[in-house]
Amino acid sequence: MRYLIIADIHSNLEAFTAVLRAAKGEGEITEIWCLGDIIGYGPDPRSCLHLLREHPHICVAGNHDMAAIGKIDTSDFNVAAALATNWTSQHLSNEDIQYLASLPIIREVGNFTLVHGSPRGPLWEYVLSPLEAEGGLPYFHTKYCLIGHSHVPTLFMFEGNHCYQTMLPSTLLLGKNRFMLNPGGVGQPRDRDPKASFVIYDSVSNSIMYYRVRYDISTTQEKMIRSGLPRSLANRLNYGT
Ligand code: ZN
Repeated sequence: MRYLIIADIHSNLEAFTAVLRAAKGEGEITEIWCLGDIIGYGPDPRSCLHLLREHPHICVAGNHDMAAIGKIDTSDFNVAAALATNWTSQHLSNEDIQYLASLPIIREVGNFTLVHGSPRGPLWEYVLSPLEAEGGLPYFHTKYCLIGHSHVPTLFMFEGNHCYQTMLPSTLLLGKNRFMLNPGGVGQPRDRDPKASFVIYDSVSNSIMYYRVRYDISTTQEKMIRSGLPRSLANRLNYGT
């Protein structure tokens, strides 16, 4: 069985489509595991929701998903993010809203816990350092934890209660050590690489493979400008910031 693990699609249909094409090119995908923030920032919230829902999938809620349906407020968002949230909330159908409202904030699947931010703070906490990863350790009870939110692909490996951070290797063999893994962002990468980021978990080889894929950034940017979304959000896609 092969599971496509993605986070932070952020209404970027071109990036999401490129990721799906690349993932399916590697072999059949059993199920998508989505770590939240399907929408927000980008120009295609409805198409991204529909594309995800066309596939067998498990998804947890992200802060942008909840903000767009008014379940959390945007006072902690920067100006551009709040503007984009406001725009997004005006471009959702009732069915989209119902689907988003149904998403859990944390979910266990086999050996994995799926969460957007961190197991300690599912919607808001960024796990950017081993200290924050260690802080989350008591809050998940599966062997492994998959996180999004920072849009930075990274691995926090635990040895006992000690944690160290590394870049995602191209292939990670799952062993005895627990870890927290962020597959990076699909629709707005922030590790200074503009290519969309994703991983595939293969339960037969018991390994996780890491990929980056180019997509048509200029089409996404043109749609954003035409929609009146903040230019800063369109520009940052060029730089992966
Ligand atoms: Zn996000």
